[in-house]
Parts: sequence; structure tokens; C-alpha cells
Amino acid sequence: MSLLLDAVPVPHHDLTGRTIVVVHAHPDDEAIFTGATIRRLADRGARVVLVTATAGEMGTPRVPLRGKDIGAVRVTELEHAAELLGVARLVLLGRRDSGMPGWESGQHAKALVRADLPAVASTVARLIESERAEAVVGYDADGIYGHPDHVAVHLIARHAASLAGVTSYDATVDREHLHFAGDHLVGGTGGNAAYGRVTAEISVALAATPYELGVKRAALLAHESQIGPEALETQFQETYELEWYLRRGPAAVLEELGNVHAWV
Ligand SMILES: [Zn+2]
Repeated sequence: MSLLLDAVPVPHHDLTGRTIVVVHAHPDDEAIFTGATIRRLADRGARVVLVTATAGEMGTPRVPLRGKDIGAVRVTELEHAAELLGVARLVLLGRRDSGMPGWESGQHAKALVRADLPAVASTVARLIESERAEAVVGYDADGIYGHPDHVAVHLIARHAASLAGVTSYDATVDREHLHFAGDHLVGGTGGNAAYGRVTAEISVALAATPYELGVKRAALLAHESQIGPEALETQFQETYELEWYLRRGPAAVLEELGNVHAWV
């Protein structure tokens, strides 16, 4: 970790006029995996378009919903988190949370896994083009921890990037790093011990400043139906201060963020 934090400083570029599309599967993923990155992009003047594919209907609520629809609750939480992170535009794809493999929710007509993924990718590609975005963020090929909706987002973002001819970044986690950190939310989901990637596979890691880490924490807690302070108690800084990406295509806006370690 010290290697990353001691990385050669990169000049702070003004990113005004630059745009990136960040695709996520469920409300809360944007904060968990890319919260500090989005905040820094926005603070440097970049336009961040957040695309969220589903409303996270299968998330288990940790607070009473008082008769409210969980999807609606989670979208409201997402709007709050997006505001904290400085997202310029939030686009909802309107698909439904598929749940984990074998769940009945995966059979729902609107489940993301049942969508025509090339068609969804075309929609995202048109968004990239209309926003004149230079890059798109999705997930690694295993959806970071194997959630079928995350795997779908990988396919959507990669295909959209190739249709639009832009760089794609796969958000992931460094499982070697997390082995020595606290309990990352990703470790408790899916039961997949082989989540994320090993350090050597990662192209770019961003180390959050204390301010960015504070905003990330607030954005995580904005998802209060899913994430409570008790989930963030153990080694919060060590667990959440780094955000990791695999890049396909030429270096783009993430390499210009400063306090970034780029391996390739
Ligand atoms: Zn998710």
C-alpha cells in the first residue's frame, strides 16, 4: 500500500470539458467501488455521467421501509449519493435487480440478466457519443464478485466502449490488498473468495485524499437502507481509500487525476 501512496505525484490537471460515463449495476455500487474517483473527477471539472442499470430491488433493507417500494427508496438514496459525489447527470436504465444465481428474481421479465445486452450496450454507446465522453467505466469480467448483474454491466460497458471507440476502465478490487485490510462490503456478498483481481493485473489505482474518503463514506451511508455505520467500522481507511481499474484502450481521464499509480 505504501508503494501506491508514495507514487510519483502527477500534476493536477484541469479536466474542464472532459466527460466520462460510469456504469453501475445497483444503487450503492457507485459509492463502494468508484466514490472517490467520481468526487475527484468532479472536483477537477470533469463531467461525470452515472448510469445505474437497476434499482437494486433485491437488496435486503436494514431499516423499515414503512410500506414504501424498495426500488423507489433506493433510487432516492442513489440521487442523494450522486449529489454528494458531484455526479452531473444520473441515467437510470430501468432494469430490475436479478439477484444472485439461482434466485427467482433472475426470471423476472425486467431482470437485467434477461435484457438484450447488445441493445443496452447500444443505448450506452449512444449516451457516450451524445455526451462526447472519452471513456466508460464498468466492472471486471467477473463482475468483481460474481453478481450476475455486475457481469452484465461488464459486457454492456465493454461493448459500448467498442461501439463508441473509447477507452474502457473495469472497476475492480485488489484482493491482495483487501486481504490485509478490513471487511470490504464486497467480501460479504456472493460468498466468492476469489473476488476482484491480484495486484499485478491492475492498471490504475487511485488513492483517496482524506476529504475524498470522507465524501465516499457519506455517499456509502446515503444508502441507508443497505449500509449502516456498523458495516464501515473496521479499518475504514485501509479498506476504502484505494479504487482500482483495469484499462482497455489508450490512457484517458483517470490517468490524469493525480495521486494515481498507473502500472501500464
Ligand atoms: Zn451491485
